[in-house]
Amino acid sequence: MTLDPTLALVETRKVFAGEGTVAQAVFYGLSVLTIATFFTGIVLRVRKYGRGRPAREGRWMRPSHREDVPEVTTKPSFAKGFWTVATNRTISRDQPSVGMAHLLVFWGFLGLFAATTILSLDYDILGNVSPLLVGHTVSFFHGPFYLAYNAVFNLAGVIAILGTAHLMGRRASHKEPRLDYTRAFKPEEGYSRKRFMQGDWLFLWLLMALFVTGFLIQGLRIDEAHFPGFERWTWMGYLTGLGWNAVGVGPHLAAHVHPWLWWFHILMALAFVAYVPFSKANHMIASPANLVVNDPANTRRLPSPPSGHPGYTSLADFTPKELLGLDACTKCGRCHYVCPARTAGAPLSPRDLILDLRQWVNRQEHIPVVLDQEERPAATGPLAANGSTAVAGDVIAPLTLWSCTTCMACVEVCPVGIEHVPSIIQMRRKLVDEGTMDATLQSALQNIAQQGNSMGKSARMRARWTKGLDFTIPDARKEPVEYLWFVGDFASFDDRLQGLSRTLAGILHHAGISFGLLYEDERNSGNDVRRVGEEGLFEMLVEHNLAALAKADFQTIITTDPHTYNTLRNEYPSYGLDKPVRHYSEVLTDLVLSGRLPIKPLGGHVTYHDPCYLGRYNRVLDAPRALIEGLGCELVEMPRNRTGSFCCGAGGGRIWMDDSFLEERPSENRMKEAVALGVDTFVVACPKDFAMFSDAVKTTGNEGKMTVVDIVQLVDRALDRDRLPSLQAAQAAPEPTA
Ligand code: SF4
Ligand code: SF4
Repeated sequence: MTLDPTLALVETRKVFAGEGTVAQAVFYGLSVLTIATFFTGIVLRVRKYGRGRPAREGRWMRPSHREDVPEVTTKPSFAKGFWTVATNRTISRDQPSVGMAHLLVFWGFLGLFAATTILSLDYDILGNVSPLLVGHTVSFFHGPFYLAYNAVFNLAGVIAILGTAHLMGRRASHKEPRLDYTRAFKPEEGYSRKRFMQGDWLFLWLLMALFVTGFLIQGLRIDEAHFPGFERWTWMGYLTGLGWNAVGVGPHLAAHVHPWLWWFHILMALAFVAYVPFSKANHMIASPANLVVNDPANTRRLPSPPSGHPGYTSLADFTPKELLGLDACTKCGRCHYVCPARTAGAPLSPRDLILDLRQWVNRQEHIPVVLDQEERPAATGPLAANGSTAVAGDVIAPLTLWSCTTCMACVEVCPVGIEHVPSIIQMRRKLVDEGTMDATLQSALQNIAQQGNSMGKSARMRARWTKGLDFTIPDARKEPVEYLWFVGDFASFDDRLQGLSRTLAGILHHAGISFGLLYEDERNSGNDVRRVGEEGLFEMLVEHNLAALAKADFQTIITTDPHTYNTLRNEYPSYGLDKPVRHYSEVLTDLVLSGRLPIKPLGGHVTYHDPCYLGRYNRVLDAPRALIEGLGCELVEMPRNRTGSFCCGAGGGRIWMDDSFLEERPSENRMKEAVALGVDTFVVACPKDFAMFSDAVKTTGNEGKMTVVDIVQLVDRALDRDRLPSLQAAQAAPEPTA
């Protein structure tokens, strides 16, 4: 092949330089085939999403709820999703170097895609249309445009190479367990996940080869043209040309090598495009799409299932958004790593759950997958089954589903916006429907249905804990109060926790707060009932509690239990509740920091455990910390803190289930983390946490070394009682008149 010598005199390059008509025809033929394969893959995927049920009547896909959840999240919106995609911010959130590398690949790849598109617009569209319209060929691919085009898109290629090299180097050298795809448990029929790794490497090598060969071709072309001065704008290609020259490939040899390498690059590029929808590369489309339609409030406020629907059994039960989410998973392993169930030795990994569902769905839809799936030796396993297998129970084992604490750590860390928890709960609903559950859970649900509390105690005993108080808490159904205290089952009935309730009542009383109770009219709020999958019972509880609340005259609800806080704040509004809801730690913080509660600084070092349903779910992170510091304690953070807190293991109804199969309870794992800090006080702000961690202190042999203290006890210890009566007197004094 020889290059047109006049080309060295003008600032452009000839497309298909030296390629004959046959070669061009082959190129276009292959391009059509490639594009057809690509769109076939896309159609198969979209058809699969269409098999799901609409998330809401008349809506196929949505950034669903539009109501705002103050402080938790801004309104979900497409614009916000696009911004997340553009900045890759969810990828860099806890892994900045990975995030930066991915950002380079992302924008580098988009840049190169844009470069190809621009060239095609000029050569294929304008080049063919313009003679028909104006009688001669019009092109903008020369002069300053050409120079700028090359300078900019050379930069895109270089950053894409740097990013890909970083990701490859990291994968090869770090050997991170989260990327080795070892299952949280080994199914009896065996498995092999080698293909996952092969798929990852194939993807990375293909990208790298595409980027690098692009520059090698540019270098040959510039070498062949004897390095025209204007090609210095093609700075990386120019340098590569110099490199060719340095290793003995002069213009003559370059002219021979150029077409071979060009064809190699073109065939690889076409193969890559065809491979995208059938491989790991599919995440290039599915992950951004999932982020754009992601609803960050979905786990906090579970979507209501279709009325009368008994939970997920088949592919048709999943929403299109859930099916898209399965495709969006990049297998990064972040959810696998943070999952307390997996850490405790339970047969649950949120990553494996997503990958199993994906493989199961793709098999049913007959979507071929290049490497990126698990191999099973027999055709009998659930992942090899062909559609008739029930998802809850067969594809995903019951114990896997019941192991989830609904802590939301997986949802929080997932960089592509997958919502594992709502899907797990929908599958649990099926297990509940057929009675596949622990006897202890069954009994707790029966107790709640019959008595309104999981302990099975009479409703009349709900306020029995107030008996030890030297004052009477008003009945909010009979007299107006400012705060309605929704105490919750554990803080009302559990012997170990009733003292904490009395302490809180005493503090509120002495601070002059107007508060009252619903007494026997209060029922379990239903947060955990809903999360074990008993939607019908949840709705009954909501109905009862709303009727009870309607009898009371109050401004704001206070809750003790963060789980109650979550459902009252995020889910009850959909059923008609229109009052603000606060957690007792927030109210105490206001009282202490405003000086309404006089304090004598405590001193000492403490650590604080963020309850999942308070911190991660509802972003109440600063108030408890400000309170602890306001009490004069020095807060020493555990490595896993704030939204990265580690679950105690009690959430999602796990507190009602057997945990004897665990290798190590999450609460024990957490207690060891706290003990390693060298502090002796473990502060909690949740009744369940108090019970779980008090047990963990004993079972980990840390009695005497660590004391579990509820934040209300800390306030009580710091209270300057001598100043309380004067404070009350001051509050009782009439307002001075002007
Ligand atoms: S919610 Fe928590 S326990 Fe459940 S899968 Fe996610 S990380 Fe694991
Ligand atoms: S579900 Fe999300 S966090 Fe988990 S492996 Fe997939 S992409 Fe990563």
